[in-house]
Amino acid sequence: MKLSPQRVNKVKTKKIPQRMCLGCQESRPKRELIRIVRSPEGEFSVDATGKKPGRGAYICPKMECFAAARKSKGLERSFKSPIDKSVYELLEQQLNELPKAEG
Ligand SMILES: [Zn+2]
Repeated sequence: MKLSPQRVNKVKTKKIPQRMCLGCQESRPKRELIRIVRSPEGEFSVDATGKKPGRGAYICPKMECFAAARKSKGLERSFKSPIDKSVYELLEQQLNELPKAEG
């Protein structure tokens, strides 16, 4: 049995995709963050599946990060458009409704 040295040396490095939270500006594994998406129709929503079409931004599933993003206008900057108060209220509501993955 021959082992090709090239094959042995090829170490698989698993790259975990990192995204920056709009609130605390910290990079975290994508799966630990919540995706906020703007649909092609211009509607904002919390994307719990990560599969909704449209442009996305990421945030920790924490109200304090959401509040920080709101205060710093991180969403506006990320989507390059003004965001209505009602959108924030809707997103806040949707964040609150997310199942908590604690424990
Ligand atoms: Zn955060």
